[in-house]
Amino acid sequence: MSTQTCLYCKETLKGRSDKKFCNAQCKSAYHNQAESTSEAFIRSVNKQLRANRSALKKACPQGKATVRKDFLKTLGMDFKHLTHTWKSTGGNLYYFCYDYGYTPSVDPEKVVIIQHQNYMQ
Ligand SMILES: [Zn+2]
Repeated sequence: MSTQTCLYCKETLKGRSDKKFCNAQCKSAYHNQAESTSEAFIRSVNKQLRANRSALKKACPQGKATVRKDFLKTLGMDFKHLTHTWKSTGGNLYYFCYDYGYTPSVDPEKVVIIQHQNYMQ
């Protein structure tokens, strides 16, 4: 007989070998915990996306700007997070955080920031 432990409280389980929890309380506590872990992750990603959008907006008050990536980082930008991409007719791929996006500049240290326009759907 194999010894299984409760996925929530780690107590040794007695009885059926396919049991995963001691009881309904442990089962629901476990699922609530898993849910709150993924909610916390979603919140942290949302927070970073907003921070990115805010950094792009600050660095680009006129609707279009070429700025150093380092400058965006000092404003709180994290380049890993984006909401969507958009390809211009010229073939440039823009990485958006909500209504602000950027594309690599010819200078590898810089990016070109643009503000979302209706034709970019
Ligand atoms: Zn348990």
